[in-house]
Amino acid sequence: MKTLKVVDLKKIYGKGDSEVRAIDGINLEVQPHKFTAIIGKSGSGKSTLLHCMAGLDKPTSGKVFIDDLDLYTLNDDRLSKIRSEEFGFIFQSYNLIPVLNVYDNIVLPISLSAGKVDKKYIDDLIVKLGLKSQIKKFPNELSGGQQQRVAIARALANKPSIIFADEPTGNLDSKTTDEVMNLLKFCVNEYKQTLVMITHNDEIANSADNIIHISDGRILEI
Ligand code: ADP
Ligand code: MG
Repeated sequence: MKTLKVVDLKKIYGKGDSEVRAIDGINLEVQPHKFTAIIGKSGSGKSTLLHCMAGLDKPTSGKVFIDDLDLYTLNDDRLSKIRSEEFGFIFQSYNLIPVLNVYDNIVLPISLSAGKVDKKYIDDLIVKLGLKSQIKKFPNELSGGQQQRVAIARALANKPSIIFADEPTGNLDSKTTDEVMNLLKFCVNEYKQTLVMITHNDEIANSADNIIHISDGRILEI
């Protein structure tokens, strides 16, 4: 189990008149094995917060802890090791590698981290995601929904403790959105993963275990 904690986090872009306080003093603790939704208006700082929590963007000040590890005190090698071993990322754009087939896209993070592929787990994932008949295909032969499912399988391939998702259903129709959400919730329940997901979809947010509402770089307390 990995706990994720954010302390006095700030991310400030620019200086003087052009200063933007994207994250302006956030404290939070993400509940492990649960689905936390992050909501808020466009430009409120959701993506910046997610990137800082996921070790992808260094905050201006404040800390992010994974268990007792202070993420931004680690050197680049250790930070990328934590990212590749403990975190999974899903973005609105699928970022699949066009010259690799579906299977190779899915196992790419494992190959890159020189880890061993758990074939049974990956095959299970492929079946659960309805991708079994697609594994030899290339990304440009798939629909948007199928590509997002491949991106999800890739995010889960390393059995991450925490899945960070930035509006993963933003480009999907409602049927595919339901499928993707069911799968992500399955991961939380079955594989005991922690899901932190930004969404604009009220129905999805309301189905989360916790909701964090961001406004002007702060948590809106209700
Ligand atoms: P959200 O995901 O909620 O739409 P973001 O976290 O992307 O919001 O952005 C929060 C604020 O920070 C916005 O005002 C945005 O313009 C600004 N911002 C984000 N990234 C950068 C950057 N790299 N440089 C300057 N300003 C940025
Ligand atoms: Mg965003």
